Parts: sequence; structure tokens; C-alpha cells
Amino acid sequence: MGLSEIFEAYKPERLSRTRVSARFYAYRDLRHTWRASQNLIDLRISDYLEGAPREILDALATYLWSRIGRLPIPLKAKRRYDQFTAQPTFWAPHRATYLARSQNLLRSPVGAWRDLRVSFEALNRLYFSGRLARPELTWTKRRSHTRLGSSHPPLNLVVISRVFDDPRIPSYVLDYLLYHELLHLALGVEVRGSYQLWHSAEFRAAEHEFHRWEEAEGWLQAIADGRRPTGRATKSEGRGVPQA
Ligand SMILES: [Zn+2]
Repeated sequence: MGLSEIFEAYKPERLSRTRVSARFYAYRDLRHTWRASQNLIDLRISDYLEGAPREILDALATYLWSRIGRLPIPLKAKRRYDQFTAQPTFWAPHRATYLARSQNLLRSPVGAWRDLRVSFEALNRLYFSGRLARPELTWTKRRSHTRLGSSHPPLNLVVISRVFDDPRIPSYVLDYLLYHELLHLALGVEVRGSYQLWHSAEFRAAEHEFHRWEEAEGWLQAIADGRRPTGRATKSEGRGVPQA
């Protein structure tokens, strides 16, 4: 059965006269989109799901139709899909593809001024009793002010914006940002009904344990708002970055 047929099979009754087309698409992230016109709904499904078990595609179809049709979210189907796609075993064969599609990753923890591994070792000792395995740590290539950091637990990957590779920003601010991302790896996600809560009460409490929490939060806010100088730091740009 093709992808279009699977989606056709779960189509809500009131769309019975609308045609459905669904195909796999090479998005960087695990994401799915759709476009609706007069009598066609055209879905693009992340190609990471190519070869996924039929029951997972069924669960996804059930869930996506609830989104498209603004119907109540089918909890069981949503949870089944979320569980499947959160597994490291699901991501393992796609890791190289994901990284190749992530063109903004430097693929190195070593910046011009700061080494993410140094921050990691200190944080691991201070806040995780040294028990955290070092994930892949990398700077971005571009200086994003909107996405300061991100973590991808099933890929065991933490990404930090190059904005923080800057001696004008105190190192504890970078440490705090990295601490936030490491907490995601350590604590995982809390499932609440149909959605996933990444910043749970437990997460926020752990975050507050950072020794300069308030000042660091102030800095992050200022950077996000553009109230701190974060232009290119002059001299030695690229120093220490291994040449591929
Ligand atoms: Zn977060």
C-alpha cells in the first residue's frame, strides 16, 4: 500500500470528496506538512519514516488528519508515533543524513575563543556528579540570536549558537545555556496528554540550581533582545577550528 492510500484510508468522512496525495520528502527535521486546495490535500511526510512499520504510518495518518481537520487529537495514535520516533534506534540510521542536511552546524566543539568540551566537563562535574556521557557538542556556523541553543536527545547532539563564542560574554552565560541543553538530555520529556512538556516543573527546578541562574538568565534575555553587543568578535576568527 502506498503512502497516499494509507492517508486515504484514514481520511475524515467530511472530506470524502477531497483527493489525497502523500509522498516522502527530504526535510532536515522530522516534520510533515500539507497544502490544501479546492479538492486536493497534498501531504509531504518526512522521509525518515520511509520503511517505518505500517502501524506507525497508520498512527501518523490518524494524528495528522486530526490536525488538518481540527478534530480532537487521538491520544493513543499520537503517543504511539511519539514513542516510536523518540527512540535512538529510530534515529540511528538517519543520523548521518540529519547531520548532512543541517548545514548550519560547524560539527566542532572548538570555537575561536571557547571550547564547548571545557564547559561540558565543568558542568558534568558540578551538576551531574560526572555521570553524563559527553554528547556530540557543536557550534553553529551562523550567529543565531533567535535560536541560542538546541538539543536533540535521540541523536545525543547539542548545538550552541556561535554568538556565545565571544569573549565579551561571560563564560558562565555559555555554561548556563549549555547546562539548559544538557538538562534536556538528562531529564527527557514529560508526556502530558497529547503533548510533550520539555520544560516541566522538575526541569525548571533543576535549572534554578545553576549558581548564577538569575544573572545568566538576564544575559540570555539581553542577547535574544539584541541589547548586548554580539557582532563579530574581531581578531583570530576561526582560530583553533580544525580544518576539514
Ligand atoms: Zn529548553
